[in-house]
Amino acid sequence: MKDFVSEIHQNENSDIELKNELYHYNALHGLEQKYGSSFYVLDVNKLRENYHKINNAFKSRYSNFIIGYSYKTNYVPYLCKELSKLGAYAEVVSRLEYDLAIKIGENPKKIIFNGPLKMKDDIHYALENESILNIDSLYEIEFIKEYAILCPNKQINVGLRLNFDVSENGVSSIQEGYSRSRFGICIENGSFHSALDELHKIKNVRVVGLHGHFSTSTRSVETYKLKTKKLCKIAKEYILDSLEFINIGGGIYGELPKSFQISAPTFDDYAEAICEVMNHEFATFDKKATLVLEPGVSMVANTFIFVAKVIERKTVTDINYVLVDGSVHNIKPTMHKNNLPCRVIQKKQLDQEKGTYHIVGYTCMEKDYLAHDLTGDLPQKGDYIIFENVGAYTIVFNPPFIKERPAIIAMDLKEIFLIRNKETINQFFNEELYYF
Ligand SMILES: *Cc1c(COP(=O)(O)O)cnc(C)c1O
Repeated sequence: MKDFVSEIHQNENSDIELKNELYHYNALHGLEQKYGSSFYVLDVNKLRENYHKINNAFKSRYSNFIIGYSYKTNYVPYLCKELSKLGAYAEVVSRLEYDLAIKIGENPKKIIFNGPLKMKDDIHYALENESILNIDSLYEIEFIKEYAILCPNKQINVGLRLNFDVSENGVSSIQEGYSRSRFGICIENGSFHSALDELHKIKNVRVVGLHGHFSTSTRSVETYKLKTKKLCKIAKEYILDSLEFINIGGGIYGELPKSFQISAPTFDDYAEAICEVMNHEFATFDKKATLVLEPGVSMVANTFIFVAKVIERKTVTDINYVLVDGSVHNIKPTMHKNNLPCRVIQKKQLDQEKGTYHIVGYTCMEKDYLAHDLTGDLPQKGDYIIFENVGAYTIVFNPPFIKERPAIIAMDLKEIFLIRNKETINQFFNEELYYF
């Protein structure tokens, strides 16, 4: 395990504002008085920068391009709204997320409705709103058919999420080591063909797009290239007359902290490979299919930090434990063992004792480690620890376990404001939910 405490990411420009303004004891102490002894901070500038970087990388190479932000990665309403203002579509995978998109004022036509579970009412509502609906399983076709019969004069557009082999050199790269993804409609066993047959039987339904999202562990450029080719080839073969979009899903790497020591492809690397395929496949076409990308982690991971106050440092035999007002659930709910980049903001710097220590959380689980085996100045009571790169799959995964959820504040052009209050006991044990 490496020690990242003193690392400074000098190449990450827009972090500088956050660092200049917040990475001082007095600044954090001031925030603690208002928001509590642990909280998240969203760097709004960084978010805008990520959006523009992704958008420019693709749009400069293939102009007919759309970003659908993956809500599930982090659906703090303020963040979703900010991305919507920038032009992102909302990519949602449940009725709950769909309704949130409506609630923040998203144009329903700019909602991409994916996901394995859609009830009849959800599908009818989305079709009524003319949202972009991608069918994940065959059962959804029944609901579409019913709606088409109810509205015989309405032109209904749908997309199909496809499932095909994306192994690299014969080895599956699907996350968790599965041989195949469980999502989408399988090409090889005929499901795709029967879906098309069923849909073609309905007069007022058109299949206007294909979708292919695969969570791979490699996130390799090569997979995106193959995937884009495959989607284009199938689209041209089966739905060319109605084709409007090719959706390649999400899953690309964002800009990683140097401490991760992974040399990830850049947005330009992905865009170059994917857009080359699109430009080639549609070279001779007047109307070029819209390319849709659904970034989640790459859009938001580096836009949040989590600040937690040091409550105590204790020693068991000769092991140092630094207890903070936070939990592993706040920063890495999957509890992986890699340390996130983190920084200690010291109250006093005099005569600091040095050593190795673990940062541990408030839950009663033995495995509640926010960081392992750090070395350097030993944090002291009253210091603050800042964990970086905590924007993706954290806040949405933070279980209501043992303690209320912390506040979320945002920083934009040096202005700081609340975007979620610290939870109260009345909200935690909501009387509309629980019977007392
Ligand atoms: C989760 C998800 C995404 C986003 O994936 P990331 O790995 O966070 O980029 C995009 N599209 C769909 C359909 C998803 O389920």
